[in-house]
Amino acid sequence: MRKTIVAGNWKLNLGPDEGAAFAEILVQHLDEPIDCDIIVCPPYVTISAVSKVLQSSRIELGAQNAHWEEAGAFTGEVAPSMLLTIGCRWVILGHSERRQLFGETDEGVNKRLLACLSAGLSPIVCVGETLAERDGGRVQEIVLGQIDRSLAGITAEQALATTLAYEPVWAIGTGRTATPAQAEEVHAMIRQRLAQTFGEETAQQMRLQYGGSVKPDNAAELFGQENIDGGLIGGASLDAESFAAIVRAG
Ligand code: PEP
Repeated sequence: MRKTIVAGNWKLNLGPDEGAAFAEILVQHLDEPIDCDIIVCPPYVTISAVSKVLQSSRIELGAQNAHWEEAGAFTGEVAPSMLLTIGCRWVILGHSERRQLFGETDEGVNKRLLACLSAGLSPIVCVGETLAERDGGRVQEIVLGQIDRSLAGITAEQALATTLAYEPVWAIGTGRTATPAQAEEVHAMIRQRLAQTFGEETAQQMRLQYGGSVKPDNAAELFGQENIDGGLIGGASLDAESFAAIVRAG
């Protein structure tokens, strides 16, 4: 059985003081035993402040990106080992906003992934098609292409440390969610590809998240699909009650 994994992506919201205050509320909402990996991914500058609040809680920390180099002349970048030293275990890679707004490519995501895995982080790699690509009947080509290129060169053991998030771009922040059937269809296709690449046993153990306007009222049905093992949550992760309800839906 795969353990449910729910991660909140705070994006460019909540500085250190606000983030710490919000994390305290979140801890109060989620202090009962729940069989789920619960992760929050604040902006870089907020991570340390939130880490102090989460220390004795069951909520873990992730970052929203990481560079592939460990040190050097890379203005604006953060190294995987730096994230580990401030308490992160997780890291989101290849989010569609990084791809669309900041020009990140599958090849870059792959370099980040290899570096993060070598450092000992647990990456969450995002893939997903745009509305034009879906309307053009290109979901399979786009999503499997992103997976093949982003995960190139990793071993089956490294694949087990990696979570994949299927996030249709047209569903992110739009209030328009993929139907459970639409999401499950793509998740099943992804797992099949993972089986071809890493073997059936590994593919069955890898966790796949759905992301795109997940809310308390649609989470249970989405997470109840055979190949959906949790969610990557944007907007609703900034509301403690909603995020806690989504976690409980797993
Ligand atoms: C996201 O940014 O990864 C996301 C899924 O956002 P939202 O939940 O707001 O659609």
